[in-house]
Amino acid sequence: MRIILLGAPGVGKGTQAKKISEKFGIPHISTGDILRNECRIGSELGKEAEDFMQDGKLVPDTLIIEIIKNRIAGKDSEKDFLMDGFPRTLNQAQMFDDMLESLDLEIDRVINIDVPDDELVKRLTSRRVCHSCSNVCKIDDPEIVHQDKDRCPICGGELHKRADDDLEVIEERLKVYKEQTRPLIDYYSKKGLVSDVDGLGSEEEVTERILSLL
Ligand code: AMP
Repeated sequence: MRIILLGAPGVGKGTQAKKISEKFGIPHISTGDILRNECRIGSELGKEAEDFMQDGKLVPDTLIIEIIKNRIAGKDSEKDFLMDGFPRTLNQAQMFDDMLESLDLEIDRVINIDVPDDELVKRLTSRRVCHSCSNVCKIDDPEIVHQDKDRCPICGGELHKRADDDLEVIEERLKVYKEQTRPLIDYYSKKGLVSDVDGLGSEEEVTERILSLL
């Protein structure tokens, strides 16, 4: 199965992608996670991407396409995938189509998760990531009892805020999403691939909505 998850920053793509990829046993490919890892290990790619990411801008298409090529176009590469955060521009989508065509592969479904802007800002400003287990949580989540707001409710590891989850950067990321990524809904709708999903409600409710479409 080949799925693309679309949606603005903060709609819950990463959280939902993990659940769906576990359920169907398909690789979860998050370009954001891959780039953050490259930044952490200080690779050339990480160094090239870092400033764009910190400013809430998109990393150049050429770098992103190279990442994707490594994951799906190699000899023993994955032929199934759940894309989270890719493609993000029309150019990336067109290059991806060409790549898939040359591999004789097709996208099965594009899930577009929708959440109103004010809720997105609320979610992103309260989002924290665990240093130890990479769990993503919200510090004001009423469903989670936090003994200590600086500690992961799952493993007790140290929680930190992503560098691009500051209000100013969040506003830039939402602007970039509207200008460069939102047009992809139309692009894939014309191919008859898009299913819209309401991203409000609990994580489980949203997962159920997505699973009912697959
Ligand atoms: P994410 O974790 O998906 O929100 O991505 C974090 C940051 O990584 C984005 O704000 C961009 O700077 C960069 N990034 C991730 N995926 C892409 C992509 N497909 N194209 C360009 N930049 C990306």
